[in-house]
Amino acid sequence: MPEATIIDGRAIAVRLRQGVAVAAENLRARHGVTPGLAAIIVGDDPASQIYVRSKARACIAAGLGSFEHRLPADAAESSLIALIDELNRDERVDGILVQLPLPLTIDPQRMLAAVDPAKDIDGFNPVNVGWLWSRQTSLVPCTPLGCMILLRTVHADLSGLEAVVLGRSQIVGRPLAALLVAADCTVTIVHSKSRDPQGICRRADILIAAIGEPEVVKADWIKPGATVIDVGTNRVTGADGKARLVGDVDYAAVRAVAGAITPVPGGVGPMTIACLLQNTVIAACRRRGLPDPALA
Ligand code: NAP
Repeated sequence: MPEATIIDGRAIAVRLRQGVAVAAENLRARHGVTPGLAAIIVGDDPASQIYVRSKARACIAAGLGSFEHRLPADAAESSLIALIDELNRDERVDGILVQLPLPLTIDPQRMLAAVDPAKDIDGFNPVNVGWLWSRQTSLVPCTPLGCMILLRTVHADLSGLEAVVLGRSQIVGRPLAALLVAADCTVTIVHSKSRDPQGICRRADILIAAIGEPEVVKADWIKPGATVIDVGTNRVTGADGKARLVGDVDYAAVRAVAGAITPVPGGVGPMTIACLLQNTVIAACRRRGLPDPALA
């Protein structure tokens, strides 16, 4: 059997970002609107600092407005709520992103619920979560949205395919399951209490791994020819003592069995930021009663 096709998330994300830049330019030229994204970061978690900085750079490169708000790690919930309220009312801001994780003293669910659903570009507000499961138009979480765009490059029609999602987090596994159900897949979610995850995964035409455990998914978990999307981002130390990123899937071995596969890095990761930009432009249009731009 030939090796799996590699799904090039980097290239697909570049095209999506170019589409976002064109849509943003059209909004500016025709309606005098510059879509704006506001990121809130609380505390000084180093990974969060890097994410927020790269999101700001991506916004500027696509011609979007970028606003950054920093609060100290000991900020009270009330000051974060006050800032979210202010951004909810700020007309320059179309998308609000509360960078997770928050310090343990702050309840993330309360903060996410405080974001205006129309500006909730992460799609984490319970209103948008509900819309997603009701198959209505909503702002969809970025990583699951990116996975769906990657899947569509392999499967024009997902109808009737058996999809298995490994992981049931609020930000990846659950919204992905909703999107796959909406795309007429037959969906199973596997989590840490599931019996026989390997056997369930072997049934999958589409396997999406989002568990955060390095290279757990082996070649004998894969139905020959299946499409494998690896969301996992795990930092490990190689035999040479150097740190490297690996996914939840044993890429080298699985590539020999799967029909198509995303690499780590260079698969799902680049799509997440591209989808965040896409959601910001979509939010900017919907808030003004304009049709969604044609993007991906
Ligand atoms: P999470 O909140 O920690 O959730 C992990 C899920 O996996 C949980 O539902 C857990 O089950 C399940 N799980 C853990 N070990 C398992 C196992 N051995 N077998 C079956 N299920 C297992 O993680 P997350 O936030 O969804 O992230 C998952 C991975 O994706 C991480 O590596 C993260 O870094 C990566 N990620 C990447 C991007 C990107 O843009 N590329 C974005 C988001 C996340 P229980 O519910 O039973 O505990």
